[in-house]
Amino acid sequence: MRVGQGFDIHRFADDDRPLVLGGVRIAGERGLHGHSDADAVAHAVSDALLGAAGLGDIGQHFPDTDPQWKGADSMMILREVVSKVHAAGWMVANVDVNVICERPKIAPHRTQMEQNLVDAVGAPVSVKGRRAEGLGSIGRVEGIACMAVALLMS
Ligand code: MG
Repeated sequence: MRVGQGFDIHRFADDDRPLVLGGVRIAGERGLHGHSDADAVAHAVSDALLGAAGLGDIGQHFPDTDPQWKGADSMMILREVVSKVHAAGWMVANVDVNVICERPKIAPHRTQMEQNLVDAVGAPVSVKGRRAEGLGSIGRVEGIACMAVALLMS
């Protein structure tokens, strides 16, 4: 068995791009700044899986300097990561995710996020939302952070 952790943080965008978290497009909320669709949940889960498999990180595989990934659907990136993990001889046992933000509220979107992630990862995924209690940059509603842990088994 191998365990991996992933972390990602994105600031809110100044333009009116959509907010996408765990493949869920959340209407009426500020989107996140980023080269891809800035789905911090998909990115953190991808990094947890790559780390567990000893395959480096998301920046090595999908560089944000590559125009190919501009505006990319990060759930597609996650699916590619899962393929790489499988190719390296690993199966995903489970993934656990914390989304840390003042807004949006995660609870109403949690089931859909989990379903999207289960579809991509092929294993149980749990998603939890945490507020930052007004502390620091997340508390000032400047962005959204996400932490993920993934367990692999051979
Ligand atoms: Mg990211």
